[in-house]
Amino acid sequence: MLQKKVLDLIQDQINKELYSAYLYVDMANFFEDEGLPGFAHWYENQAEEEVGHAKRLRRYLIDSGESVKLEAIAKPDKVFKNIEDPLNAGYEHECYVSSLIHNIYGVALECKDYRTMNFLEWFIEEQAEEEKNSSDLITRMKRFGGDPAGLQALDKSLGKRED
Ligand code: MG
Repeated sequence: MLQKKVLDLIQDQINKELYSAYLYVDMANFFEDEGLPGFAHWYENQAEEEVGHAKRLRRYLIDSGESVKLEAIAKPDKVFKNIEDPLNAGYEHECYVSSLIHNIYGVALECKDYRTMNFLEWFIEEQAEEEKNSSDLITRMKRFGGDPAGLQALDKSLGKRED
C-alpha cells in the first residue's frame, strides 16, 4: 500500500499522461489537415508513448495493492495558427510533465517512500529524453522547414519514426 499523498499524485499522473496522449493525437490531426502525414505519424507515435506511460503507472499502483480510479480526460483546447505552434506547445508540455514527475519524486522523498522514488527514476530519464526529442524537432524545423522542399523532406524523415 502507498501513502495517500503519493497515491493521489500517481492517480492524477495517469490522467495527465492520458491527456498528453490526447493532446498529441490532436496535434497529429492538425498535421493531417496541413498535408504533412510524416509529422502526423510522429505525433501518433508520441501519443502511443504517453499511453505507455499511463499503463506503467497503472501497473505500479496495481502491483502496490491499490485500486486504480480513472477520471475524465480534458478536451485539448489549443488552437494552432501555424505549423510551428504544435512543436513549441509540445516542448512546453513536456517541460510541464517533467515538473509533475519531479514533484511526485519530491513528495515520495518526504514520505520516505524509497520504492516509489526508485520506480520514478525511469520517468525522470524518460522525461529528459522527451524534452530533448521535442526540442530537437523545433531545431530541425528551424533548420529545414523554411522552404517547401525542405519541409517535405523533413516530413518524409519524421514519417519513418518507429517508436
Ligand atoms: Mg508522458
